[in-house]
Amino acid sequence: MDRDRSASSPKTKIGIMGGTFNPIHYGHLVTAEEALYQFQLDTVIFMPTGRPPHKSRKDLASAEDRYLMTVIATASNSRFTVSRMEVDRKSTTYSIDTLKELRKIYGEEVDLYFITGADAIFDILTWKEPETAVKLCKFIAATRPGYDLKKIESLREMLMGKKEVDPKNNIIYDMEIPALAISSTDIRRRVREGRAITYLLPDGVMNYIYKMGLYKNSS
Ligand code: NAP
Repeated sequence: MDRDRSASSPKTKIGIMGGTFNPIHYGHLVTAEEALYQFQLDTVIFMPTGRPPHKSRKDLASAEDRYLMTVIATASNSRFTVSRMEVDRKSTTYSIDTLKELRKIYGEEVDLYFITGADAIFDILTWKEPETAVKLCKFIAATRPGYDLKKIESLREMLMGKKEVDPKNNIIYDMEIPALAISSTDIRRRVREGRAITYLLPDGVMNYIYKMGLYKNSS
């Protein structure tokens, strides 16, 4: 696949790994590592959401717990860091606000790649200011095996049809990640049912979940 024409660009390349991380698991970590490799990123900044607009509160661990689990999971990788930007924001989390803030911080001297699940990318780019979003960064859509890529293809076509979008630039890449067979929903269900979660997420995160009593009563 034609990955990125600017792969040889001298600019610093930063991946922004957006997610609710409720909780973070090996599927997320493999996704970030694969993006580092495939897109020759210099670093990946994990960005746990603060107040996601689209989530029920019932089985959502607090922003602080999700942030701390993300720190625990990424601590041993020198190319991974975790940002508090969305966790500390008082208002509802919209990715477009985060991308604007990151651009202000980094200026034009870096290439930004927003990495997340394909369905979430669809939501982001059909919600608020898609033309602005695709000027601020490129998107890497992580998919589970068997995911129907037609949805992403139609999104690409819709964006390419807009006069503000440069058709020479690929703006959404897809990346299949077999390890995404692991899911946060399944992990929460297992905790609720008293089933094992070993091998699905780092031990430190598992111990944190048990210590804090997370997800025991989740729906
Ligand atoms: P979600 O809708 O809960 O997740 C959609 C799918 O993507 C799930 O299967 C999820 O698996 C997977 N996924 C989530 N984050 C991933 C990641 N970083 N890498 C690989 N797979 C991932 O998505 P979400 O976690 O709430 O949101 C993802 C990102 O999109 C966040 O940064 C969020 O703020 C943003 N978002 C923004 C808007 C907006 O601005 N309007 C709307 C929706 C989402 P797991 O459940 O196993 O994680």
